[in-house]
Amino acid sequence: MISVSNVTKHFDEVHALSDVTLDIAEGEFVTIVGPSGCGKSTLLRVIAGLVSSHGSVSSPAKGAFVFQDAALLPWRTVQKNVELLMELESVPKPERAGKARSALSQVGLTGFEKSYPHQLSGGMKMRLSLARSLVLSPEYLLLDEPLSALDPFLRIKMRSELKTLQKKLGISFIHVTHSQDEAMALADMIVVMNKGKIEQVGDPYEVFNKPKNEFIANFVGGHNVISKNNKSYSIRMDHINVNFDNKNKDTYSMKVNEIEFQGQIVKVTGVTKNFGQLSVSLADDIFLQNKFDVNDEILINWDKTKENSLQ
Ligand code: ADP
Ligand code: MG
Repeated sequence: MISVSNVTKHFDEVHALSDVTLDIAEGEFVTIVGPSGCGKSTLLRVIAGLVSSHGSVSSPAKGAFVFQDAALLPWRTVQKNVELLMELESVPKPERAGKARSALSQVGLTGFEKSYPHQLSGGMKMRLSLARSLVLSPEYLLLDEPLSALDPFLRIKMRSELKTLQKKLGISFIHVTHSQDEAMALADMIVVMNKGKIEQVGDPYEVFNKPKNEFIANFVGGHNVISKNNKSYSIRMDHINVNFDNKNKDTYSMKVNEIEFQGQIVKVTGVTKNFGQLSVSLADDIFLQNKFDVNDEILINWDKTKENSLQ
């Protein structure tokens, strides 16, 4: 539905996008993720036609940007906030009211027409922001870090609301975030960017289990990058076992230098002779049954078929 082909965008000497090619299918939740400054917002703005670029973008469908809650007008009611864009486009008044009511019903805000933004919860404000964009009957929505202003607890609650709404509306969401957790939780398709380039496109399982290169393995987290015979591999921290019974002979010794309790797991970091620093994540009950301390030597190993070869 949306095709971005060989798009390049420079701001003077800054290479915001370098030869970016991407296809987005209808009805998909696509998340563009990458560190700050890697070109995510620029790519979204290029898709929206707000920024000129070299290359081509074809999007036969109509899209709309979702602005953050901060853009809600506090002196206008919920209904009037939703009518705003239609007022600017001089849509006749009776039509405005009807369209606004139907957008509010799509996001589950029927009954709140006369409320003001400050009377709504964080989740309702997000839904109101969506309703404002939905009045234009877009076939896809563009969302630039819509959850970044929220505190961590609310962000996790809101992201599931966002996903539920996208499935219910059945239109594509093209969503930008710098958080790999959010990308994993939300996306049907993840687009990982770095320094103006797309590094990998895939579903969350693929990107997590088969990171293409060292940058992605480090960015998605939970992996070690190791080097064997001049080749690089990633191995998931939870795929490394600790041999508490010393029975297995095929092990590496690791001197523990950090033990971090993270709730369900305990992250153990140490140094091995063959691979330098490695981290291992253990289920907390396994750790509690076999406790060890910083400076202890433990024996680790892993199933070699779980090694993922990196480019
Ligand atoms: P992200 O959204 O991933 O943080 P951006 O797309 O906003 O990254 O920016 C990518 C790069 O382009 C950055 O180095 C940024 O400073 C630069 N940039 C973005 N917009 C402009 C602009 N309007 N003028 C000059 N430089 C810009
Ligand atoms: Mg940005």
